[in-house]
Amino acid sequence: MLKIAMQIANMTEEQCTAENIQSIVMRCGYYQSMAGEERGFELGMFDCEGNLLVLTENDFHRNLKEKVFFPGDPNYNNLLWQEIGRIKKELVELFDSFIDDNVPFSKLEAICKEISPKVVFYAPGANEWDPQMGMTFDNRTLRNFVLSQEIIWPFFRYEGEQFKRVGRCPECGTYFFADNIRKMFCSASCKGHNFYRTKKEKEQDMAESVAETTRKALSKMNEKYKK
Ligand SMILES: [Zn+2]
Repeated sequence: MLKIAMQIANMTEEQCTAENIQSIVMRCGYYQSMAGEERGFELGMFDCEGNLLVLTENDFHRNLKEKVFFPGDPNYNNLLWQEIGRIKKELVELFDSFIDDNVPFSKLEAICKEISPKVVFYAPGANEWDPQMGMTFDNRTLRNFVLSQEIIWPFFRYEGEQFKRVGRCPECGTYFFADNIRKMFCSASCKGHNFYRTKKEKEQDMAESVAETTRKALSKMNEKYKK
């Protein structure tokens, strides 16, 4: 659930490398394939400005000159982060409103108007009221793909309530998708850290209040003594 979206929402600029993005899009079965003489293994992603950001370099890509960027090109990392950062910002805004129990209707409506998922096949099923339908997601850009497959599609399938399981760890700020709706922390280690930190803070508060009481008692005694 939210396989690509969650990883992008948590991504930092340092983690935003061709290698990492490639492993995310491949594990999630998303890739942009291009027609060409050399078919080999072609993998890249288009950004919103129509640039092809090649994730795996091969001769076919090397022969394309315009608007094609390779890992190692001077501006490549900037462009990749510009695009991934833009998707991240959008996802974080959506997640934050889900966390506040608020479904941002007009934002989702705007996304629906922009993306173009297609029904690619329609065939009879065992029950005529329940035909077999296949849909493709809008994969013109990685952004459209993530939004259409991981955000709009669940709403289309009446599964929007799953977004109530989106959480943000109060200890480290990581976004996560909770299997258990009561889950509060991203990991056992953050839960542990939080437990000990709160315990320490409580102990410190207690120590401070004891010190304060003692200070007050002493100053009272001092005043008495002066008289
Ligand atoms: Zn955490």
